[in-house]
Amino acid sequence: MNGLMITIDGSQGEGGGQMVRNSCALSLVTGEPFRITQIRAKRSKPGLMRQHVTAVEAACVISGAECSGLAVGASDLTFRPGRVMPGEYHFAVGTAGSTGLVLQTVLMPLLLAGGPSRLVLEGGTHNMLAPPFEFIARTFLPIINRMGPQVTARLVRHGFYPRGGGRIEVDIVPAPLGPLACTARGEQLGVSARAVFAGLPGEIAERMLARVRRELGDWPDAAFALHQVPADEGPGIILLLEARHAHVTEVVSGFGQLGVPAERLAKTAAARMQGYVQAAAFAGPYLADQLVLPFVLAGGGAFTTVKPSQHLLTAIDIARCFTGRSIAIARQDGGEHLFTVG
Ligand code: AMP
Repeated sequence: MNGLMITIDGSQGEGGGQMVRNSCALSLVTGEPFRITQIRAKRSKPGLMRQHVTAVEAACVISGAECSGLAVGASDLTFRPGRVMPGEYHFAVGTAGSTGLVLQTVLMPLLLAGGPSRLVLEGGTHNMLAPPFEFIARTFLPIINRMGPQVTARLVRHGFYPRGGGRIEVDIVPAPLGPLACTARGEQLGVSARAVFAGLPGEIAERMLARVRRELGDWPDAAFALHQVPADEGPGIILLLEARHAHVTEVVSGFGQLGVPAERLAKTAAARMQGYVQAAAFAGPYLADQLVLPFVLAGGGAFTTVKPSQHLLTAIDIARCFTGRSIAIARQDGGEHLFTVG
């Protein structure tokens, strides 16, 4: 780089916490310090929230990074990375902040580190606006594992937002990331729809599943299941729709919220799954933004995706800032978009 510190305007692009997490991850891998200003400026509660602070703290702990300005509500942060040290780490996100988002922050640095690591992450495992555990384990990590490193994740205890209290354990065996060409999802191998619930009347889960069954009329009966977990892991409910293909598994989720009827949630999740099934692209919208870091750090590769989200475009901008790589996203004739790293 040119000797000036990378400075990111956190209010630009998607303007969310992902900019902070991806910046920390890229800073640890490239050794480039950065400053981010106007963090989450346009959100209803601007600045860093507890879960963002935990994610940045985790980045500091694994590398001895120096960070100034780190506090709940802060809008300006300077981060100077240290050397990433593999090992055993335990991070607790406190009130139901997402464990998956903490993992997003430290995973790339640790899977490129000089030795294996084990992470214990406590907090929310099933949150709104964050990858649920099943998405991490079944959609995201299988692709990372095809790139070289071996990462396994176990759900020890569910933690539904807002109570949290969940626990996941992640084992990381590092290896260089190799470029992949992920342009076709391959034949469909199976589908499933599960309503996972805890500490709530089973009738809610039954209504949710009945509605999603109606919406996904061409899915086989055996695909639909209720899954009750111990009441003290809730209260909470999530609908998990899965389409397993030869090269990728898409997990679409609908997170139960107070005041949102189970039927409405089921209908929305079913429509999102149908949108994916009808498209030809490899990656759904969430997988796409989460693949930016590993693909850019692999220094090459390509994947196809559905219409680019603001999260995807912003992740690309941040990755360009830190790596200087040429990254392109172009619409294909079939309607899907091709992401390539040059
Ligand atoms: P941010 O909104 O900036 O905190 O970033 C949210 C992150 O969570 C992004 O990387 C999204 O791809 C991911 N995410 C949000 N909702 C889901 C979901 N339902 N399934 C999988 N990933 C999700």
